[in-house]
Amino acid sequence: MDQRELERFFRSLDRSFFVDENMKKHADLDRPLPIGHGQTISQPSLVLEMTKLLSPEKDSKVLEIGTGSGFQTAILAKMSGEVYTVERIEELMEKAKKRLEALNFTNVNYKTGDGSIGWEEHAPYDRIMVTAAALVLPDELIRQLALGGRMVIPVGPPSLQELKVVSKSDEGDIQVKSAGWVRFVELRGRYGWTK
Ligand code: SAM
Repeated sequence: MDQRELERFFRSLDRSFFVDENMKKHADLDRPLPIGHGQTISQPSLVLEMTKLLSPEKDSKVLEIGTGSGFQTAILAKMSGEVYTVERIEELMEKAKKRLEALNFTNVNYKTGDGSIGWEEHAPYDRIMVTAAALVLPDELIRQLALGGRMVIPVGPPSLQELKVVSKSDEGDIQVKSAGWVRFVELRGRYGWTK
C-alpha cells in the first residue's frame, strides 16, 4: 500500500460529510461521534491506523464489517480494488450508500445483515476489516480470509478490546498479533456480544 497516497486521501476527506447536521461542527475533532442508533463514527486517527495495519493493495478484495457512516468504507474503496461492506442497521446503510455514491465510488458492494458471519457469496477476501468489538475471533471470517490475507479486528468486551491482526499464510497457517487496545461499539450477531 502507498502510505503517502493513503495519508493524502485521508486529509482530503471531509468528515463532516459523514455525520448528521447536529454533529458537523464537531467533525474536526479526533474523537468518535454519534451517528444515530447508539452507533459511532470512529476516531479519525484510529481509522488511519487500522487502514495502515490492514494495508490493502490496489487489487485487493476487501470485506468490511460495520459500514456505519461509510467514512472507513471510502478510504478502503480508494485504497483497494473492490469493497464488500456489511451493516446490520438498514438506515445507517442507506445513508452511507448515498454518501459513497455521491463521492462516485463504483467499487463498493452493500449488504444489510449480520456481518459477523462474513459474506460467503463473494469469499475469499484478501483483507477483512471489522469495526465493531467481537466476542471471539469469528471462525467464519477466518475461513473467508484468502491465503496470504489479513484481517484487523477488535476482540474483547464492550469497555476495552485488543486490536488483533490476523494473518493467513500461503499455506493456510494462522498467526494472530496484538496491535494495542481500542474501544469500539459492540459487534452483534452470531459472533457478537448480543444477537
Ligand atoms: N467504520 C464506521 C465508520 O467509519 O463510520 C464505524 C463503525 S461503528 C464503530 C460499528 C458499526 O458496526 C455500527 O454501525 C454497527 O451497527 C455495526 N455492526 C455491529 N454489529 C454488526 C454486525 N453483526 N454486522 C454488521 N454490522 C454490525
